Amino acid sequence: MKERIPTKKIYVGDVAVGGDAPISVQSMTYSDTHNVEATVEQINRLHFAGADMVRVAVPKMEDALALKAIKEQISLPLIADIHFNYKLALEASKWVDCIRINPGNIGEKSRVKDIVKACQERNLPIRIGVNAGSLEKEFDDKYGATAKGMVASAEYNIKFLEDLGFSDIKVSLKASDVERTVDAYRMLRPRNHYPFHLGVTEAGTIFHATVKSSIGLGALLLDGIGDTMRISITGELEEEIRVGKAILKDSGRVKEGLNIISCPTCGRIEADLVSAVAEVEKRTSHIKTPMDVSVMGCVVNAIGEAKHADVAIAFGKGSGLVMVKGDVVAKLPENQLVDRFVQEVEAFATKEA
Ligand code: SF4
Repeated sequence: MKERIPTKKIYVGDVAVGGDAPISVQSMTYSDTHNVEATVEQINRLHFAGADMVRVAVPKMEDALALKAIKEQISLPLIADIHFNYKLALEASKWVDCIRINPGNIGEKSRVKDIVKACQERNLPIRIGVNAGSLEKEFDDKYGATAKGMVASAEYNIKFLEDLGFSDIKVSLKASDVERTVDAYRMLRPRNHYPFHLGVTEAGTIFHATVKSSIGLGALLLDGIGDTMRISITGELEEEIRVGKAILKDSGRVKEGLNIISCPTCGRIEADLVSAVAEVEKRTSHIKTPMDVSVMGCVVNAIGEAKHADVAIAFGKGSGLVMVKGDVVAKLPENQLVDRFVQEVEAFATKEA
């Protein structure tokens, strides 16, 4: 796997983004932000699900004014998402840990200047959040909603901030399809050192968003690109974190928890493998130690997989084997296999800790 491409380290609250910091996963609430109780409840759900930071929409002044009360009740770093009205950013900057602006719709550059000044005074980073669907007119006219247009907008705005002496910047280049998104990030990466926030925007329901994000963000992560990410899902908040963390793990950027190898089943199967794997996944989800485990439906491939796995099960007719590092440690009736497997996984995790 390629090395992660070095970027400048910035801080969103106490969470580092870029440099050697772990790639963070974030999400966004969907409550009316001025409904403080509902917003805090959603932020706490995201925190519990493992989010590293959270973003809230600030479409009205009442939302900006609610940020103080929200901030007092949460411990995740808070990002204000601002479109159109720079005054909202000025108010939000008093309470949050980062401002995200869409430079394409903030309007006159003097307004962006005011936002930069407010962030400079409070040491807040700014995310330049370029969206293919809302480029500044000049870039849209010249390039259309293409990767080139997104990169031109990002570079223009980076320079604008740099000329004001501001460099606590992170950048996102989001389109609603994988190809433009990946092209834009790949195009911009060699041209500056700012951390990238990755995402395929408006990616759809959980199934489609997972596929699009896995392809797009997976390709970028394998290239060594990406410092923080959001999976955009039309669905529940926790799913965004779950999918984001799984992409980080399966792209090899995070070594944590079980890598479960299980067979797709076929006509040779002689056990209820689907239920067994679901139970294994549930009962081992708390384990953080990285390990490979295999859960296979018959002996055809089970022994081979078990040789490479830390802990393994091979189901057979009415019974099966539990193996550790390729050695058989138990031959048990089918209904006792998962219990013993989980015991061995926990023992392995304790030994490796
Ligand atoms: S391990 Fe056995 S049951 Fe599973 S797919 Fe292979 S042959 Fe079929």
